[in-house]
Amino acid sequence: MLIDNHHRVHNYLRVSLTNNCNLRCFYCMPNEELPYTAPASLMQLEEIDQIASTFIKAGVTKIRLTGGEPLVRKDAAQIIERLSKYPVELTLTTNAVRLHEFFDVFKKAGIRSLNISLDTLKAVRFKEITRRDQFQMVYDNLLRAVELGFSVKVNVVAMKGINDDEILDFVALTKNLPLHIRFIEFMPFSGNQWKDEKVIGWKEILKIVGDEYDMVPLVRNNHDTAKKYKVIGHEGTFAVISTMTSPFCGDCNRMRLTADGKMKNCLFSKGENDLLSALRRGEDIQPLIVQNVKSKAAERGGQITKDFKTVDASAMENRSMINIGG
Ligand code: SAM
Ligand code: SF4
Repeated sequence: MLIDNHHRVHNYLRVSLTNNCNLRCFYCMPNEELPYTAPASLMQLEEIDQIASTFIKAGVTKIRLTGGEPLVRKDAAQIIERLSKYPVELTLTTNAVRLHEFFDVFKKAGIRSLNISLDTLKAVRFKEITRRDQFQMVYDNLLRAVELGFSVKVNVVAMKGINDDEILDFVALTKNLPLHIRFIEFMPFSGNQWKDEKVIGWKEILKIVGDEYDMVPLVRNNHDTAKKYKVIGHEGTFAVISTMTSPFCGDCNRMRLTADGKMKNCLFSKGENDLLSALRRGEDIQPLIVQNVKSKAAERGGQITKDFKTVDASAMENRSMINIGG
């Protein structure tokens, strides 16, 4: 078992398949174009398989594929098929632009739940946020995923002055659809235009919804990052991921692997262990994994230790979100 120095068992691995993407969300990608990453520096199918199997032997029971956009990777289907042979819960976070091409692959791989990112229900705004004109494709794919019986969580990055006027519209979607809307507090990463005044906190979101609807809190399961609620009478639920205003690091079980094979023990961690280079040198990567977990800070990578309003995003040592893998 992978246990850190704060007694937290780590059994959930998030694997970035690529730092490439078919959208350009301003809060995720730096303004300047991303430098080209040579395919050879990315983990290849066999390497992903070997690294994943080492994590699984060490106690991992859940793997989430992410990115960048995992479904733009040419061999995404083969990777999914390969990982589906392991006795773990396999799942995926996607922007849904290419989702329709993968429903059969997911069904065969036993994937039952999907996290789909969508920050607005307005096509014009979608283009402003993502710099691509793909709203209809994403929205149609989201509805299709629900129709096909996938359990769908919708990730909405809540940002003041950008989409805060749509919080109730998203909650209204849960009336007749079994969707799980998750408002994510806007987080600071290298070059992502973060300012504390753009964060809409958990309590503010609850107030907006509570002023309109009667709602009840739902039970928190171990390791849940989301504070969950249900509007009475609605089919779906909504939640807030309060990384900035009320972090949930106390029972964190997550580890991350970047597309170039570096292990991070937290979204905000400065340190990384280069598993891919070690694997390519023929070394055992298990001790590196253990060491990485042991070095995990108690909270938010040790980089956000006080009130988030005091954070100087430009002084944080980290990659951009697209390079970490969300
Ligand atoms: N491309 C896929 C997608 O968009 O779902 C997977 C990768 S993306 C980096 C994973 C998640 O991170 C998305 O839900 C995205 O909205 C979220 N995200 C990216 N930058 C963020 C930020 N600065 N604050 C909060 N969430 C962010
Ligand atoms: Fe791409 Fe996802 Fe980042 Fe948007 S949030 S740029 S879709 S990786």
